[in-house]
Amino acid sequence: MIPDNVSEIKKQITFACSRVGRNPDDITIVAVSKTRTADEIQEVINSGIIDIGENRVQDALNKYNILAQRHIRWHLVGHLQTNKIKDAVRIFDLIHSVDSLKLAQEIDRQAQKIGKVQDILLEVKTSEEPTKYGFKEEEVIEAVKEVNQLKNIRLRGLMTIAPIVENPESARPYFRTLRELRDRIYELPACRQASEFTSYELGDLSMGMTDDFEVAIEEGSTMVRIGRAIFE
Ligand SMILES: *Cc1c(COP(=O)(O)O)cnc(C)c1O
Repeated sequence: MIPDNVSEIKKQITFACSRVGRNPDDITIVAVSKTRTADEIQEVINSGIIDIGENRVQDALNKYNILAQRHIRWHLVGHLQTNKIKDAVRIFDLIHSVDSLKLAQEIDRQAQKIGKVQDILLEVKTSEEPTKYGFKEEEVIEAVKEVNQLKNIRLRGLMTIAPIVENPESARPYFRTLRELRDRIYELPACRQASEFTSYELGDLSMGMTDDFEVAIEEGSTMVRIGRAIFE
């Protein structure tokens, strides 16, 4: 049952945090509800989670309309196609999956049209899996500088999807890579000059899913994207 699953996950988050001296309040659970119904999302909300993640804009739109009365923060976690940007900017509070500069620029353009400042994360490819979207590690710093020129985008952090592995421990290096990358960005001289990086709040790390969220938290995750452990 969903409420039991949620309380189990919260317990696991608390344990993971205690292992590394972190505060569980600093971790946001994003319930990834792709393939699930609006009714199932209601159950999640009733269990105290208000962050809902979808990986396709059209599915999200349908559920968004049904759940318009509920207080929900909508997260886009899947690849965003150009022809869906306008709808995405309208409904999502945070877009985790910004994987190219071109996409960031178009999000900025659409956000400007509706007078919104769109929160985003840059998706980083921390592993060599060829099918995966995202910036390469060595491209990220340049991308951060470019994205921060865009007035209708606020860059909130980085996101990665670790490869599927047998043992969650094997995902640790990918999470560590993302955290180190964020820390390196903090060290950029330009980042210390708020005037140049007006929208600069690059603190969030969206990493960790059902099979590996505890390891991700040990490595600094601030947002875990959890599907199966909540809904199954
Ligand atoms: C489906 C999905 C998740 C959740 O995966 P689970 O293994 O079910 O927890 C997280 N992030 C992304 C990008 C997804 O597509």
